[in-house]
Amino acid sequence: MLTSLRDDVLRANLELARRGLALYTFGNASAIARDEGLVVIKPSGVPYATMRAEDLVVTDLDGNVVEGTLHPSSDLPTHLVLYRAFPAIGGVVHTHSHYATVWAQAGREIPCLGTTHADYFHGPVPITLPLAPEEIAARYEENTGHAIVRRFQSLDPMRMPATLVAGHASFCWGKTVGDAVETASILETVARMAYDTALLRPDPAPIAQALLDKHYLRKHGAGAYYGQTTPNGDGSTGRPRGGGEHESAPPPSRAPAPRPR
Ligand SMILES: [Zn+2]
Repeated sequence: MLTSLRDDVLRANLELARRGLALYTFGNASAIARDEGLVVIKPSGVPYATMRAEDLVVTDLDGNVVEGTLHPSSDLPTHLVLYRAFPAIGGVVHTHSHYATVWAQAGREIPCLGTTHADYFHGPVPITLPLAPEEIAARYEENTGHAIVRRFQSLDPMRMPATLVAGHASFCWGKTVGDAVETASILETVARMAYDTALLRPDPAPIAQALLDKHYLRKHGAGAYYGQTTPNGDGSTGRPRGGGEHESAPPPSRAPAPRPR
């Protein structure tokens, strides 16, 4: 069931480990098959080094296991809340990557201090409000998802594909789980740059809105022109395909998945 999506999710989870974004069994990636209403997610507590495609767990949007013998990641309820609230997303990634987590622990959003940030995130990366004690006591992981959705009431999750969860770490998402991994990697880089900038110059000013808009919209807006474009016959340009003289990060590697045993 969902063989190719399983491969994508396995590759995404291994990529988190390979990029140093997730240590031990911290971190998890999932993807959704919208037509089937099914989610593929990392199993709970299985080391990345030995994870196989058949270890992944398939659940419905209520968290019922449809296929798999292992328990799904304990963060599954957070992923499910995000899939229900943000219909355009196809993948979710959660990591405790160092610098993004440092900002989350400090209870601070990540200000947009430069164009590296603006190329990927259309504004400061937000942070949720802390959970109330009763939200922690019961249905904690689900309530974490609700805290993110509340924070995004006036934000577009496709223009801001990441958030910090106060006192915890980050969640990222994208059209695909591969996109979500790339965002998690960029988020860590941006968080590190912002941290170092604030060390060198305390309370640095965010870049101007005009510069933020320019960098974000030339790559993601309706008239995006960044990277290699595909002519679509009417003189306008098609969607950007990446590449370019200062593409911020290589695409996630396409290492072959380990052979099923
Ligand atoms: Zn966590």
